[in-house]
Amino acid sequence: MFSFAPRRLGGAVVFAACLLIVPAVASAQTVGSGSASGAAAPSGARQDYRSQHFLVHSDLSPAEAKQLLEKLEYMLGIISTYWAKPPKGVIECYVVKDLANWPAGTIPDDYGREKIQRKEGVTVSLVLGNEGRATVYATAEGGVAQHEAVHAYCAQNFGTTGPTWYSEGMAEMGQYWKKGELAVAVHDYVVEHIRTSEPKSLNEIVNSNDRTGDSWQNYAWRWALCHLLATNPNYAANFRPLGLGILNQKPVSFEQAYGHVADHISFEYLFFLQRLCNGYRVDLCAWDWKRKFTALPPGTSRTVQVAAGKGYQPTGVLVKADDRLEVAATGSWKLDKTKPAAVTAAGDTDGEGKLVGVVFHNFQLSDEFEIGDSGAFTAPSEGQLFVRCKSDWGSVGDNFGNVTVKFSAPK
Ligand SMILES: [Zn+2]
Repeated sequence: MFSFAPRRLGGAVVFAACLLIVPAVASAQTVGSGSASGAAAPSGARQDYRSQHFLVHSDLSPAEAKQLLEKLEYMLGIISTYWAKPPKGVIECYVVKDLANWPAGTIPDDYGREKIQRKEGVTVSLVLGNEGRATVYATAEGGVAQHEAVHAYCAQNFGTTGPTWYSEGMAEMGQYWKKGELAVAVHDYVVEHIRTSEPKSLNEIVNSNDRTGDSWQNYAWRWALCHLLATNPNYAANFRPLGLGILNQKPVSFEQAYGHVADHISFEYLFFLQRLCNGYRVDLCAWDWKRKFTALPPGTSRTVQVAAGKGYQPTGVLVKADDRLEVAATGSWKLDKTKPAAVTAAGDTDGEGKLVGVVFHNFQLSDEFEIGDSGAFTAPSEGQLFVRCKSDWGSVGDNFGNVTVKFSAPK
C-alpha cells in the first residue's frame, strides 16, 4: 500500500511524501529555546547553504544553517549506512523560519509553501524508475527538515519511500537517531500521547488505509513500532532486510517477515507502549522467549542470576496461583553505575533496587509484585515467573551488577 496518490506527469511519477504536523506546544518550545540561545537571525535574509549532500535555501542565520547542515549530513550518514546505499546527488531543501521573508515566487512549489505555512513539511519527488529527485519543503521548527530528508534520501536512491507505516516510522526515527544511542529520546508530547491513549494495534498501524500526513499522533505509533522492531534483538535481524526489500520494491511484507511471531511482537509492542519514557532501552528490556520453564517440585530449589541492567528476566520456574516459594538472594547491585552505592535485592529505603516479579501466562502479565532478598512470596497466578531489579524504566541502562537468587519450593 503506497502512502500517496501518484500524479502522472510526462511518464514520471510525482509524489509528495509526508507532512509532519508539529503540535502547537512543540512549536512554542522550539521558538522559545531558539530566541533564548540568541542564535536568531536578525535580518531574516534568504541564503543558500551547501554541504556535501544538501543544498539548503533558508532564512535561518548562518550559524543556525550550519548546525542544520551538520545534523542533516550526520543523519544521512547513519541512514545511508543502514540502507546500504551511498546517497546519490544533492538533496535540495527549503527550510523556512519565517514565511514573511519569502515573497511570492521564492518557494517554487505551492504545495510546499502551503505546508510550511502550517508549520509542517513535505517532500516532493520526481521519480523515474527506481531513481528520483526530491525537494524538501520544511518549517525550520522541530525535527521536520530531518524527517523530510529521510523521505528525500529514500526517493532519490530507491524511487520509493515504502508504505506509510514504514516510511513515516523510519522518517520519525531519522529525526531522533543518534550514533550509538539506543535509548528512547523523543519529544515529550510523543511520550505523553502514547502513554495516555488506547494503544493502536499492530494491524491498525501496518494494514490501515491511513495516509501520510494524517496526524502527528499516528506518526507517534508508527515511530514506536519501527523503534521497537529496529532495536529489539528478537526482531531487529528481520527488520533491516524487510526495509531493504520494501525500498528495493521486492515482494516482501510485514506478515511474511513477522507473521510467525505476531503474538510475540504484539506482546512486546504493548509492553513497550505501556512503559514508554525517554531513556527506555528496548534492547535491554526485550522478552526472553527461548527459556524453558518447569515447575519446582516440593523440596527442590533453583538458582538464577538476575542482572540489574535488564528488564524482566526468566527464572525458568513455572508457578501455580497461590504457590508459596521461598527466596534467598545474595550479592548487590547498583542503580547508578557511576556511583559506589550498592543495594541488595531488598532495595533501598524507597523500594528501588528491590527484586520484583511478574507472572507471564498466555501473553498476559500479572501485576508486578515484591519479592525482596529473603523470606517467601505467593504467586498471584499461574504461569512463568520473571523477575527484575525495580527501577524506573527509563534508567535501566544506568543499572549495574547481578544478584544470585535461589527459589525453593517447601516440602
Ligand atoms: Zn513523513
